[in-house]
Amino acid sequence: MCEFGFEVSLCTWLERHCPGIVSRQLGASSEGGRVIDIVAIEPGPDFGARAAISPRAIPDRAIESSVGVGRWRHWKEAFASDSEWAREACEAAIEIGFFERTRRGGREYVRQATRYPAEWFGSIVGIENKPDLGSPGDLDRQLRIDVSLGLLDEVILATESYVTRAHLNRIPAEVGVWRYDRESADREVIREATPLGPTDYGVEVLDRVPGRTEIEIVPPARKARLRRRLAERAYGKGWRTYAFPSCAQVETRESAGTTSLPYCRWKGRTVQPATECGPDCSGHEPADAPDVDPEAERERRTPWVRDPEGRVQEQAGLDRFE
Ligand code: SF4
Repeated sequence: MCEFGFEVSLCTWLERHCPGIVSRQLGASSEGGRVIDIVAIEPGPDFGARAAISPRAIPDRAIESSVGVGRWRHWKEAFASDSEWAREACEAAIEIGFFERTRRGGREYVRQATRYPAEWFGSIVGIENKPDLGSPGDLDRQLRIDVSLGLLDEVILATESYVTRAHLNRIPAEVGVWRYDRESADREVIREATPLGPTDYGVEVLDRVPGRTEIEIVPPARKARLRRRLAERAYGKGWRTYAFPSCAQVETRESAGTTSLPYCRWKGRTVQPATECGPDCSGHEPADAPDVDPEAERERRTPWVRDPEGRVQEQAGLDRFE
């Protein structure tokens, strides 16, 4: 069963039925390396202000730095570091228009071009896909990590399988369960999710070996920062992260109102171009890739803005140096 095809089809459904940002394959933990399959992010009251800054993710280090609006600051002091990571975050913030830069006396100064809108996103729902519950793999452990950390507002298990009581008993009671049919793009709620506590302390399971479990307590402030980083990455990434292959067998396939899925006639299903397509594929026939514009489709279907005009504030009289 092709998990990728299930995942992108569910993204089309979410994009039609949820009002905000849908993205896939994002880090959703503090230190543990947990990657969640899909997130659906509800817009907050400041969403428009966020969309006006940049279509890309704003680096967390740049938001956390003491670079503010109005006052130019020497970049190394504002980041309290001249590490490669700090430099990269500063450059990225300048490139996307979140920071402005000036040079005086051989030193480089930066300031925010616009204030960061802290309340641009609301609830974050995480979805773990397991189309075939007959081969659950690490599912139970992954869902327990999500529930105990409580970074997300809700966690859902999405499947195509018939869900039995035994299945429901095996997964944490807080996890909601959806049955999703990719052919009809229909979703059935088997069990509602129980809201988690993203503003409470969380417990992250880092490692489990026989007789010992290594954990970390994650305080609310750390969780708030992780949620913002997750939301930023989702905003920048979206879910149409693949390029259509240069193959005569591929075509764009419609699902839930968007023609965004790479359907292979030779395989008879949606394919994951990065791992399945290329000259090594027995069905490959060189041809021009279909002419698709995933960003235009994303903008048509969601509040994400592809080419914002930018909001550089007036700084008259505020140019002062430390
Ligand atoms: S490369 Fe193979 S899998 Fe990809 S579209 Fe062509 S035939 Fe299908």
